[in-house]
Amino acid sequence: AGEVTFEDVHFAYIPERPILKGISFTVPAGKTIAIVGPSGAGKSTISRLLFRFYEPQKGRILIDGQPIADVQQVSLRAAIGMVPQDTVLFNDTIEYNIRYGRPEASMAEVEEAARLAQIDRFIKSLPEGYATSVGERGLKLSGGEKQRVAIARTILKGPPVLVLDEATSALDSFTEKEIQDALDLVSRGRTTLVIAHRLSTVINADEIIVLDKGLIAERGSHATLLAAE
Ligand code: ADP
Ligand code: ADP
Repeated sequence: AGEVTFEDVHFAYIPERPILKGISFTVPAGKTIAIVGPSGAGKSTISRLLFRFYEPQKGRILIDGQPIADVQQVSLRAAIGMVPQDTVLFNDTIEYNIRYGRPEASMAEVEEAARLAQIDRFIKSLPEGYATSVGERGLKLSGGEKQRVAIARTILKGPPVLVLDEATSALDSFTEKEIQDALDLVSRGRTTLVIAHRLSTVINADEIIVLDKGLIAERGSHATLLAAE
């Protein structure tokens, strides 16, 4: 489950300036599709439409054949997960931070998610800045480690569809390797839509869609697109 389809999607924030001029693609269940293109091409708009922050003026978006316009907002939130690039941790244990969104999860499930995200060694730790009456000091996590907490949270929540929007992130704080590792971890067996600036971070995508001036300019595997350059 989790197939996502854009069917001739047209969208403009203001009528005189169309952003998407008829975009069609399918992310088959369990596959990873990357959207790349220059800044302002409309990449993040695609994820905003998928979350129904906005509605297309023409065309449809479907999940497993059902138009998202007919899906309740709460079901849509459960079906689509998002890994933010800038994770702000709650002032509590890493375990609590992983459980956020699914507090009833068993300890075994939490441990498995933490193991996959490779943060199981500090699951009981407190993040830096955590203050208690005895002045206890927390653990300083790097940007990449904080992102791993968000990844463990997403793995535990287990949405069938995942959106990774790198386009709006503070890229400087992450190495390309960290982003790629994160991607490989969360996208395993899940339908994944990656919004990226650079072809180099999406090498492993099943298909790459190049967006330009509101249209799909090119599409294909990483190798095919490189060969065409
Ligand atoms: P990308 O992610 O490819 O950089 P976006 O999808 O964020 O591009 O934006 C596409 C275009 O839409 C940009 O020119 C941007 O300025 C414009 N845009 C984004 N949000 C709004 C908005 N709320 N109102 C008007 N224009 C917007
Ligand atoms: P921008 O920085 O361009 O104004 P935002 O920071 O509002 O965009 O959002 C970045 C991306 O994250 C958007 O494309 C949107 O799809 C997604 N997003 C924002 N808030 C949420 C949310 N609460 N749940 C899921 N996705 C979200």
